[in-house]
Amino acid sequence: MPSTPAASAILSFEDARHLVEEHASRLRPRGKELVELLDGAGQVLAEPVLADRNFPPFPRATRDGYAVRAADLAQLPARLQVVGESKAGAPDTGLRVETGQAVAIMTGAPGPPGADAVVMVEFTARTGSQVEITRAVQAGENIVAVGSEAKRGERLLAPGMRLDHAAIAVAASAGKSHLLVYSRPRVAVLSTGDEVVDIDVLPAPTQIRNSNSYSLAAQIQAAGGEPVLLPIAPDDPERLDELIGDGLEADLLLLTGGVSMGKYDLVEQALAEFQAEFFFTGAQIQPGRPVVFGRIPRGADEKAAEQTYFLGLPGNPVSTMVTFELFARPILEALAGMTPRNLVFLHAKLKSEIKTKTGLKRFLPAVLSGEFEQAEVELVRWQGSGDIAATARANCYVVISPDREGIVAGEWVPVLMR
Ligand code: AMP
Ligand code: MG
Repeated sequence: MPSTPAASAILSFEDARHLVEEHASRLRPRGKELVELLDGAGQVLAEPVLADRNFPPFPRATRDGYAVRAADLAQLPARLQVVGESKAGAPDTGLRVETGQAVAIMTGAPGPPGADAVVMVEFTARTGSQVEITRAVQAGENIVAVGSEAKRGERLLAPGMRLDHAAIAVAASAGKSHLLVYSRPRVAVLSTGDEVVDIDVLPAPTQIRNSNSYSLAAQIQAAGGEPVLLPIAPDDPERLDELIGDGLEADLLLLTGGVSMGKYDLVEQALAEFQAEFFFTGAQIQPGRPVVFGRIPRGADEKAAEQTYFLGLPGNPVSTMVTFELFARPILEALAGMTPRNLVFLHAKLKSEIKTKTGLKRFLPAVLSGEFEQAEVELVRWQGSGDIAATARANCYVVISPDREGIVAGEWVPVLMR
């Protein structure tokens, strides 16, 4: 028997999040594709990137100066015979550093055999073919040994990571002009409500434009998914059924609106008729309390393991945005092939006092400012979770635990970045 909305489960924020993470950890991406290196930025890596040679491939000087034998500098100042020069990119000169000798060397050049350290040029004085050195070095100083960053064949990048600029640099350094990445999951977006009209329609006085489909589409893209916007569903069970049916063809279905307790909040009932299994029908958070999470068997054969997950997000625009970040993102990232990660909040100093009520974990739109080590945060004034304009002026959310009634200015508070 599928659970129905009657078996309602309102979880704490942490329990709800963990439940979503648990389901996410069992999801796999659909496919892989080969893309050009730069097109891989922001995508999720689907293959290991291996070191095609030792990193570094030669003992690499990290300073300009003289390649020496550290033992020659036991007594200072030391005078060494300069027997040649090693510059970056120059072919092997066959030079060797013997006791009492040094080789002038530049950053990025290979340390010659026999030398085990580089003395920075600042601690040397050159006269003809002689160099006087006034500071000792440890063996290995200012020189990176062959293969010490990675040995040939070692894994440099693991599948499941999102390719940022550092990962792109690693792939480039290993000669990968193309990368295998996971295909982006398709995420269907279904906004509901009789009052909601699309953006190219002139709204009647009591109608509002559909903003949720667009904020969600932008969030989906940023999280690595491909949004598929469905037509707006009116508060009419038949049409809602039809559009949910269409949405279930995607890898994930996000609905907005119609999940509260109102007379025309039909979404849960409609999902139940698709044999939905509900994992929770609310979370103790604000905004976003009525959020719904579950899954529906795909296709005719209910026993088939294939399931489409859905989230019913509350229609208030800020609730939609926040619940996407908290609950939809982990599922989307898993379908995109990303290795699961925990949600962590950063901390900032509260600029002015907050008064609130206990009972719900709050995610309130705020502005993070300050500079360098001084991160400060302040709530924006808003008219509640329908206030998109105030939320657009914010750049983060202050996180307030359900047991707090007030927070004084100067306290370090957790912040969810956006
Ligand atoms: P609901 O969750 O359906 O009760 O809607 C809560 C509030 O969000 C109502 O004020 C709706 O008009 C508004 N709302 C619902 N869907 C959207 C949407 N797609 N875009 C903008 N606002 C919406
Ligand atoms: Mg509605």
